[in-house]
Amino acid sequence: MRTPLTRRNVLFGLGALTVGVAAAKYLSKDALSPLLSQDLHSLKSSSNARVVWHPSYGMPWYSNGEKFIFEMLVPMTIGAHPVNILRYAALSDELLQQGIITKQDVELLRLIDPAILGEFHTPKYLQKVKRLAENPALSLINRDNPINKGLYDFYLAATEGTYIAAKIALEKGNALNLSGGFHHAFKDHEAGFCFFNDVAGAIIRLRKQNVVNKVLIVDLDVHHGNGNASYFQEDTNTCIFDMYQGDIYPSEKIPVEHQIVLEAGETDRGYLSKLESLSDVVSSFRPDMAFYLAGADPFEGDKLGGLDLTKKGLRCRDDFVLRLFQERNIPVAVTLAGGYSDLEDLVDINRGTVESVLAT
Ligand SMILES: [Zn+2]
Repeated sequence: MRTPLTRRNVLFGLGALTVGVAAAKYLSKDALSPLLSQDLHSLKSSSNARVVWHPSYGMPWYSNGEKFIFEMLVPMTIGAHPVNILRYAALSDELLQQGIITKQDVELLRLIDPAILGEFHTPKYLQKVKRLAENPALSLINRDNPINKGLYDFYLAATEGTYIAAKIALEKGNALNLSGGFHHAFKDHEAGFCFFNDVAGAIIRLRKQNVVNKVLIVDLDVHHGNGNASYFQEDTNTCIFDMYQGDIYPSEKIPVEHQIVLEAGETDRGYLSKLESLSDVVSSFRPDMAFYLAGADPFEGDKLGGLDLTKKGLRCRDDFVLRLFQERNIPVAVTLAGGYSDLEDLVDINRGTVESVLAT
């Protein structure tokens, strides 16, 4: 019988780790930029670590004073919010208890430097988010997208997490951020529960360092990634493959190079058959690396999506995507994106994604 791990055990356990950068499989050692080495040395990790996590993903502030705001004031003001704020804590607890991630996995040591956010968000917008975060009363007028100091730190950590997962993927083939995938965030405004665009930010930062040029985004969240599309509309070196349900949020779609629009009720068989076209996209575009948004919301029990995929179908989806990149030696960074089913189902689906990453 396993000894249950509490969050406190995990934090202290992870604290003892040291960094080891493995021999590069995807970049030769000579190709490592000083910035890349520096970033990897900011992590606590073993040489095998491919999962990125930060203590603020567990929303530790939630059990303190700010819980009142989210359990009482937010529902009174905007109605019950579809995001289950406990999803990331429940997931990391489950992964540790099941032994799927261990102390050899990564703890991210830092939040993104707010100054770096300025590379992919406008100063005016960043000031607005900070002001909302510091004043919960103001935040409540922000309708679907309330924020407070705790959530602000969560978004800063999760945004850095996707960038670090991308760096690890370049070294080791694939890596996963136990959060991220905020594909509705635009340069100058938040949307759809997304404040900072982690994937766009990671691509912009990596490109600035000349680490990658051609990047493919595979977005299999049930919602169209309008924020991602807005960032790369004019950029021929970033290709987006977006498979989403057409009649749900967001109402205004932004065209991307490869989009597959699904109708409500799509099942495993139809979905997986349509997904096969990704193979041709990868072969013709030949990206240096990929970002995969493995949204859990195409699930049949999702409260915001209308597709009928089973957990088994979603696991097949993840295995297909990850093997596709593995076979072609293309590094892929994975984020969890959306998910609005019951907590137990959501954790099950996300756990399948983690297992799929670690199996490839
Ligand atoms: Zn979604």
